[in-house]
Amino acid sequence: MGVSYIDFKEVDATTYDAIVVGSGFAGAVTARQLAERHGCRVLVIEKRPHIAGNMYDEYDDAGILVHRYGPHIFHTNEQRVFNYVRQFSGWIAYQHHVLADWFGTYMPVPFNKNSLEIAFGEERAAQLIAKLVDVFGDERKVTINELREQQDPDLAEIADFVYKNVFLYYTQKQWGQTPDQVDPSVTARVPVFISRDDRYFQDTYQGMPALGYTALFEAMLGYDGIDVCLSTDATSVFELVFQDGDEDARLSAIKVKDTVFTGPIIYSGPLDELFVGRFGRLPYRSLDFVYETYEQEHKLPCGTVNYTVSEDYTRITEFKYLTAQSAPNTTIMKEYSRAYEDPETQIPYYAIINDENRAHYERYLDMTKSLSNFFPLGRLAEYRYYNMDRIISLALDLSAEIGDKLAAGEMRVER
Ligand code: FAD
Ligand code: UDP
Repeated sequence: MGVSYIDFKEVDATTYDAIVVGSGFAGAVTARQLAERHGCRVLVIEKRPHIAGNMYDEYDDAGILVHRYGPHIFHTNEQRVFNYVRQFSGWIAYQHHVLADWFGTYMPVPFNKNSLEIAFGEERAAQLIAKLVDVFGDERKVTINELREQQDPDLAEIADFVYKNVFLYYTQKQWGQTPDQVDPSVTARVPVFISRDDRYFQDTYQGMPALGYTALFEAMLGYDGIDVCLSTDATSVFELVFQDGDEDARLSAIKVKDTVFTGPIIYSGPLDELFVGRFGRLPYRSLDFVYETYEQEHKLPCGTVNYTVSEDYTRITEFKYLTAQSAPNTTIMKEYSRAYEDPETQIPYYAIINDENRAHYERYLDMTKSLSNFFPLGRLAEYRYYNMDRIISLALDLSAEIGDKLAAGEMRVER
């Protein structure tokens, strides 16, 4: 069946067992599980005019399937997660390859044995590879921070090269900070790999939904008992009730259309937005995407090229590699990273992970802990740097937990 779309004006909130805010993987998986496994009637509230969150894709004017909120490649080591998404779509095998444009020469990223040969020449690379294997072992991944801690002069030479030519400028563009300033977990996502394996990810399960992500989300949300309200901002339809009038007062209830909603509310938007940023907005990085279409079959040598030493955009993606679409023309997308300054015109994409921002986030989170039917979930609501598979995994766990609570009568649903 197709997705059941409903205008918020027509909604009678008392007829739903659960409300889900957001229709990315956090929201869509939870909505589907609550409806299918636990027999809930679920209302999904989505502020964009479409479902699928940041995974949303569509055909552009040139007929090329493009991702509208950044390139999304599915990869996971969790079989449960891959089995879950496989229910909703056919999948095509895809292994992502990324090349760094290093002064006009292409070099594999993550930086690996092949990159070493391009950077240092075969002879010197052989010595450096021998040293890496000796110290860390073959086929091992080493973060740039670990490498930079080494005293050995050969390893220091590699570390210095990789830091300056792969991480420094790209990270400055992406975060407005140097690699030393960003949380170590961020650069650890792209370690140096002592290997000839040129793939960007080494996960067991990798691929792309055969008809695209939007079609997959349509299949997921097209289920009896799920209604979706598009172009509806939860912050404008939720009425928050607080325990008292203090600035730090905790939530005691959320009303929808003047009635306290007692069923589970799964919230996957930014937590600070819910409270109108009363302690100041949480910092995020935003992105601008610029698309270009060319009358040629391919523009790039692989799915993504990272600009690690030049240009003011961070990377270019050519979608046809990701989607296996065949066409005589092609569309590429340049990504420009920006400070997140205006919630009216910009989208928060990346939480900026550090202790200070975590504490800031926890202040908002504390206000929700008093509300037993409120569940923040996802990259925004949890202020974390999650890949899709992690969100799906967390959503499966959370919906099971909520289902158990409902079965035990812990969150009574008043009709
Ligand atoms: P989202 O997909 O952001 O969904 C949240 C939804 O909530 C949105 O639709 C939003 O409109 C809605 N919403 C927010 N506030 C409100 C509100 N107040 N009222 C109503 N609706 C609201 N992961 C990978 O595994 N592989 C990749 O290749 C990959 N590439 C990425 C590239 C980029 C540029 C970015 C930014 C992320 C990438 N990710 C990738 C991560 C992936 O996007 C996230 O893991 C995923 O989007 C998380 O799903 P989510 O449901 O938490 O959030
Ligand atoms: N990074 C870099 N150079 C690269 C690739 C990654 O400096 O060529 C750093 C950069 O700080 C980036 C982080 O590693 O933000 C994580 O990269 P990833 O590709 O995982 O970023 P995402 O796809 O999530 O934007």
